[in-house]
Amino acid sequence: MKEVLIATNNAGKAKDFETLFRPLGIQVLTLNDIEGDIDVDETGDTFEANAILKAETVARLLGKIVIADDSGLEIDALGGSPGVYSARYAGAEKNDEANIDKALNELEKASTDNRSARFRCVLAIAGPGLKTETFSGSCEGLIHTKRQGSNGFGYDPIFFVPALNRTMAELSAQEKNEISHRGAALTQLKSKLPQYMTGTGDLE
Ligand code: IMP
Repeated sequence: MKEVLIATNNAGKAKDFETLFRPLGIQVLTLNDIEGDIDVDETGDTFEANAILKAETVARLLGKIVIADDSGLEIDALGGSPGVYSARYAGAEKNDEANIDKALNELEKASTDNRSARFRCVLAIAGPGLKTETFSGSCEGLIHTKRQGSNGFGYDPIFFVPALNRTMAELSAQEKNEISHRGAALTQLKSKLPQYMTGTGDLE
């Protein structure tokens, strides 16, 4: 079976990618499957810069083709926050529950009816002899007033998808990937996968 390495330690993202790659017969590996600790500091101030940084750093360290995902939530009434700081919005320990509490509190303080928001995802693919490329996707929604649902990860329990009348955390993995920012970005990358595979051998 072909394999692809995703430069992440985030179990939630890994699960999304497993659902996305399964129909292609490709097995997903993450940094948790690799020996040694690899943790890339996300010093960029855009999703694109951070995705490229993660993909190129890990590809250089391991000498393999690597896909990295940088993603986050933009809340319009908060000027696009938490944005690239989504994972560490409530602190460096990257706690999903504390991040949700902070987002709900900040929106409460902003005392506005505007609850529009979007998830954004930029995927970067890098590897030996490859020109790094990026692919973007977004998903529009509303910030719910409370948590609802137990699937997914991160901000999914408060991200309401009007078209489906449910939060992201109330969708199955399959349903989420059909409409998600990650699914949209991967749809674009997928069209180029055969090219990467034939150009440099199997993704590994
Ligand atoms: P990073 O890309 O590792 O910097 O972190 C992305 C962060 O954005 C995650 O830790 C989540 O807080 C949030 N995020 C990204 N994608 C999703 C998603 O699909 N659902 C919920 N939260 C997400």
